Order: sequence, then C-alpha cells, then structure tokens
Amino acid sequence: MTTATSAVATRLEGLRTKLAEKSVDGILISEPSNRRYLSGFVGTAGHLIISRDHAVLATDFRYTEQASRQAPDYRVERTKAGLDWLPKLAPELGIRTLAFEADNVTVSLYNRIKDAMQEARGAGVEVQLVPTSGIGLELRSVKDAPELALMQKAVDIADDAFDEISQKIIPGMTEAEIAWQIELAARARGAESLSFETIVGAGANGALPHHRAADRIVNAGEPIVIDMGARYQGYCSDLTRTIFLGKPDDEFKRVYDIVLGAQLTAIETVATGMTGAECDNLARAVIEQAGEGEAFGHSLGHGVGLDVHESPSVGATAKNVLADGMVFTIEPGIYLSGWGGVRIEDIVVLENGRARVLSKARKFVP
Ligand code: ZN
Ligand code: ZN
Repeated sequence: MTTATSAVATRLEGLRTKLAEKSVDGILISEPSNRRYLSGFVGTAGHLIISRDHAVLATDFRYTEQASRQAPDYRVERTKAGLDWLPKLAPELGIRTLAFEADNVTVSLYNRIKDAMQEARGAGVEVQLVPTSGIGLELRSVKDAPELALMQKAVDIADDAFDEISQKIIPGMTEAEIAWQIELAARARGAESLSFETIVGAGANGALPHHRAADRIVNAGEPIVIDMGARYQGYCSDLTRTIFLGKPDDEFKRVYDIVLGAQLTAIETVATGMTGAECDNLARAVIEQAGEGEAFGHSLGHGVGLDVHESPSVGATAKNVLADGMVFTIEPGIYLSGWGGVRIEDIVVLENGRARVLSKARKFVP
C-alpha cells in the first residue's frame, strides 16, 4: 500500500465516524477540495458517494482512467449525464438516508439530487436527503503527515521566492513588476500556481489589506506589504512580509514593532485547547495596549490547506477549539489610512500543544 492510499483510508474512516454520529447511511461529496481530500482524485469533475462500507467515485469518460489510478480506494463509476448513476447506486449501497454538503450544493444541483431520489422512489426505494454542513472542512482542519509534507513544500517555495525577490526590489519598480517577479520565482521553484494573486501594497496602498498589485511605483521611504502564496500539489502557502526601502523612519519602526511583538506573542503563547477567539486575542491585546486596536480590523488568522482559507477560524468570534495537527496563519496588522500598513504573517502547525512555525522567510529588521 502506498502512503497516499493509507492516508485516504484513514480519512474515510474519519468521515464514516462522522456519518455514524449523524445517523446517516452515506454522503454525497460535491465540494472539489473535499473530493480531492477524501479520494486522492485531482480531476475537476465528479462526485463521491461514501457509505458505511463502500466508496464510489462517479465521473465522466474524460476522467475515469485518471480516477482509477489516483483513487485506488474507490470503485470508479463512469457517468453519462449528471447524476444518472445516483438513483440506482444509492439503494444498491444500502443507503436510505443520504447526507449532502448543504454549503456547497447549488439550487440546481439540489434539484437534480431530488429528481434522482424521485426516480429511486419510482423503483420502490425511499431515500431521505439530509443537509449537512462542515464535515469535510472539519476533517481537513487537522492535517495528516502526507499533507504536512506538502504544506511544508508549498511554504518553502514561497519563502525562497520572497527571500530572492525582496532583495531585488528597488525604487522605481511597480507593484505589478514585483508581483510578477515573485510569481516567476515561485514557479521556477516548482509552484503549480499561486495560492492567490500576489498583493504588493506600497505606501498608502498598504493600508488596504486586500489591495492587488498595480501600476503604482514603489518609492524610497515607504513601507511595502507583500502577501503571497504558492500552491504545491494542491496545497497552499500564505506569507506576508512588510519591508521598507531606505532608512526606516520612526513611525515605521513604531508600527512595525507593535505588529511584530503581537505576532511573536501569539506564536509563543497559542496552545492546543484554546478557541480561535482566544488565539486572536493574544495578538489583539498587544496591539490594543499599544493604542492601535482600531487599526487592526481583521481576524488574526485562518486555517490553510487545500484552500487558502479554510478551518479553523482564528478571529475575534471564532468558537472552534484549536487542536494538535491544525495548520493556520498568524497575521496581525496595523493599517493607517493615508500612511500605509504593516502586516506580518506566518503559517504554524500545532504540535504537542504548541505552535511550530513552518515559514522561514526573512523578517525585515528596521
Ligand atoms: Zn496572506
Ligand atoms: Zn492569510
């Protein structure tokens, strides 16, 4: 058995425990990242149907061969049109209660599922549909060893790309040029894509947390916020550094110091068993004490994995409890309108109750 196969088997076991808790016989998986996580199949079309003792991957002729190779734990069902396989398959697998992913299912997909169940009823089998929420995300929030290895690779690519390009930034370059150099450097190191469009916010643009890189020229004497990530075999990294061209002024030093202090405090003191809100407050309290609470208007962090934003939530109202194996960002920031911003972001994994930092990109020293 390959490692990938045993990882999928373990993930299926976790899913089946959840199905039993919810007293359902099976689940239809339609969300793409959940489909990939639970099967190993990386194609872009298809559904999983998982019962207590069967796992079926239904996809069309373009993907059946790939599916058989990538998802050896599954029986691959070749579909002709939409959910044509479902009316026969659900009863055949002994499914009388079928969960679906309510957060992901569109109205049109829901109607097609209902039609399929109607057809099954015509054949004398009653299947009840049960909406569920967050099962896949919950499973995915705790990373297994193969995932952690891929995450580390995605992090390393971004770190190295940042370390190379950040040294080459000179006044007169545009934000967009910097973003492009970062993308080239990440691709050269094996990134299959970026996790998201790179953010390069120079000067006042740095005060807009989700500013995209544009034609603006970077000048000496202003902060530049760079937020970037690389995707490797499906897994995302997410890294923010703030640099300063030329000799940092006192205001930059003051703001940078507060943000770095808040970030390091959270990294050093976050512990397994805290809620996302408690973790958020570790950094927020430092920024509030420094009188800049109003300038930190977003969550401290977020889970990251197959999606760049996933569970757990790490924000002021996040009730989820942080557990060993969870991977998330810690990224406090201060944004001062008209001046700019400072944000510093690293990815951590909780291990033996504490955070271990995956990112190694150099941090600017004012
Ligand atoms: Zn980021
Ligand atoms: Zn982030």
